[in-house]
Order: sequence, then C-alpha cells, then structure tokens
Amino acid sequence: MSIESFYEYPAGIALSIFLQGLREGKLIASRCGKCNTSHIPPRSYCAKCLNPINDFHEITGLGFVETFTCSHISLDGSQAQPVTWVYVRFEGVEGGLLHRLDPSVAPEKALKVRPVYHGERIGSILDIKWFTKAE
Ligand SMILES: [Zn+2]
Repeated sequence: MSIESFYEYPAGIALSIFLQGLREGKLIASRCGKCNTSHIPPRSYCAKCLNPINDFHEITGLGFVETFTCSHISLDGSQAQPVTWVYVRFEGVEGGLLHRLDPSVAPEKALKVRPVYHGERIGSILDIKWFTKAE
C-alpha cells in the first residue's frame, strides 16, 4: 500500500540562495557576521551564536569525503546498480552535502572532490550530477 502526498516546500531565504547558486553552477555557503562561522547548506541564522545571517559566499575550494557508504537497493526497494553516497565537507565550513560519488572513482575517506554539474540546471540539489575526484 502506498499513500500519495503532494505538497510544496518553501525553501526560505538561505536555501533559495543556495538553490539559485546551484542553477549557476556554484556552491553557496553562509557566513555569520558575528562569529565568522560558515555553513553549507547556508543558514538564515548562525547555528553557533544564533545571529541572523545575510552574508553568502561561493565555496571555491575543493571538498573532501568525510564518510561514505554504498547502496545496492533503490528507493522503491528493488535491486539497483550500486551507488556510492558520500558526505562531502569543505575546509573551514560547518555542515556538508550528501551526494553521489562518480561511479568511476573508488571511495575513500579524505578524498579531495569537486562537484560535476549537469549542463541544464533548474535550481535543485540534483543539478549536481555527482562529486568526482579532484585532479
Ligand atoms: Zn555566529
């Protein structure tokens, strides 16, 4: 049995800026003007000091794999081609992004990675095709 559910989720200011950045092929983080902490995905309020945030900046450095796992089952429970999921963090930035790893790359902790974007983007986390090993 399945239940269909249709809803709209308002992204809010910080996440909207993040999604617009993805459409432009950029990773956008927030920076707290009080304690200088950066977050990705960006936040409207600092997680450390609760200061309102209105400073957003592009992350231009490489990411690194914090951890990874391999899935052999798709979301509907059927068997699927294995997918490696990586949690990517960025130096000096709190938080991170969970995404796929390029299937031609062997996963390892601390692997330096960069996002690979689709050519046509819509402002979605899926505008990132996957992360791949940075050369
Ligand atoms: Zn802060």
